[in-house]
Amino acid sequence: MSDSFDVIVIGGGPAGYPAAIRAAQNKLSVACIDEWKNRDGSSAFGGTCLNAGCIPSKALLESSELYHRALHEFAAHGVTLDGVGFDVAAMQKRKGGIVRQMTQGILTLFKGAGVTALTGHGRLLADKKVEFTGHDGAKRTLQAKHVVLASGSEPMALRGVAFDGERIVDSWGALEFGEVPKRLCVIGAGVIGLELGSVWRRLGSETVMLEALEQFLPMADSQLSKEAARHFKKQGLDIRLGAKVSSATVKPDGVHVGYTDAKGAQTLVVDRLIVAIGRRPFTKDLLGDGTGVALDERGFVQVDEQCRTAAADVWAVGDCVRGPMLAHKGKEEGVAVADLIAGHYGHVNYKVIPSVIYTAPEIAWVGQTEEQAKAAGRSTKIGSFPFAASGRAKAMEAGAGFCKVVADAGTDEILGIHIIGPMAGELIAEAVLAMEYSASSEDLQRTIHAHPTLSEAVHEAALAADKRAIDIPNR
Ligand SMILES: Cc1cc2nc3c(=O)[nH]c(=O)nc-3n(C[C@H](O)[C@H](O)[C@H](O)COP(=O)(O)OP(=O)(O)OC[C@H]3O[C@@H](n4cnc5c(N)ncnc54)[C@H](O)[C@@H]3O)c2cc1C
Repeated sequence: MSDSFDVIVIGGGPAGYPAAIRAAQNKLSVACIDEWKNRDGSSAFGGTCLNAGCIPSKALLESSELYHRALHEFAAHGVTLDGVGFDVAAMQKRKGGIVRQMTQGILTLFKGAGVTALTGHGRLLADKKVEFTGHDGAKRTLQAKHVVLASGSEPMALRGVAFDGERIVDSWGALEFGEVPKRLCVIGAGVIGLELGSVWRRLGSETVMLEALEQFLPMADSQLSKEAARHFKKQGLDIRLGAKVSSATVKPDGVHVGYTDAKGAQTLVVDRLIVAIGRRPFTKDLLGDGTGVALDERGFVQVDEQCRTAAADVWAVGDCVRGPMLAHKGKEEGVAVADLIAGHYGHVNYKVIPSVIYTAPEIAWVGQTEEQAKAAGRSTKIGSFPFAASGRAKAMEAGAGFCKVVADAGTDEILGIHIIGPMAGELIAEAVLAMEYSASSEDLQRTIHAHPTLSEAVHEAALAADKRAIDIPNR
């Protein structure tokens, strides 16, 4: 095998592996190095997302949601079941199968595209040399014309709360429980915390979520956050805001979680504790001496708008650089960089990166919230449409939530679209496309939406922005 490549990508997660594939499509010689090891010691491409994040969490969210619906919704459809149960081992086995299929799929894609897959550690040296240490310990020095750093992120730990991998776990550990904890605490009511809390709550855990911030989901439009809080409360998620955790001690009767809130010092005793307070860039042993690559004060690899680091022909993408820690953001950066390296056009529109929370109801948005638009000095017009007025949503027994369009009152440009309701994560794609093409709310209004579909909610919300909705009264 050659030790010289046009492009070496360090990290094979959702930012790194697409960069490698696109570079190979661009007729460049490419190697992708990844050091991920599963619990059983096997290596796998796909990074956090495929192995311990997006995919396994969605598999368990789907299984637990089906159980929840069988218990609470099927009767409304006239479907009766004799005793509904679940089997955590079977859910975990299914999840494991999906993860294996998806991660092995990357190797097939690499083979098809002609990417050299290397399992082990990669370290950038000066002059675009890369030291590769295989999992067997053997070292080789590779030479690249371009290097793409895609080393991802890792869970943040909380001072005073030590992971033990058993009772006190991070998000990966929370996806591996072999049984349903009777009493569960999740520290952090952000996206990951809410998804993990939902899985185990639906399966029966008494779930308390401790959130240090006073405001729930502050990054979402405030109407969405309020609606979400109402649903989560109804589902039995006990979300405590302004709760600052200072300690967690494992004792025979459970994990004692110490926190303070407006009422003073509190202690909560639970069987399992999940810490989901955020992630930080992972750059351990990534950079040798004299590379010229700089990290910022929070440990992110410093890059410009086009993901160039301070070192010539060294690029960085995904969670290890600024911007939202999302798989699709990393993927677009990886692809754009691979195109730029080949001398093609490459671009990421950071203004239209969708966010999705895969709870029930789902929550998704793109662009500015109403509050952000106003704070930016835009004069806005708002259109909302409730799923309770959508025939398809009613047929699905999923009438909770709404779609909200925020548009500029003067130019009619769509500034943001915010959805809480069934399949919000799928519906948001239309909003992203509309905003990518700088659509006006009138453009959405004049677009035919099939009936009866959930997407009619987006259509009607756009119409409502001009008080021209058909299926709800215009106020
Ligand atoms: C529970 C959970 C759920 C999530 N759900 C979603 C979701 O629904 N949607 C979404 O968009 N995002 C989700 N995310 C976030 C998403 O997983 C990350 O944004 C995404 O994985 C980042 O991709 P990446 O390629 O930058 O990094 P990673 O996926 O972290 O991949 C980096 C890879 O590089 C390897 N590596 C690091 N350093 C080296 C080195 N020096 N040498 C060799 N290999 C190295 C690592 O082992 C890893 O395999 C979730 C995250 C978690 C934890």
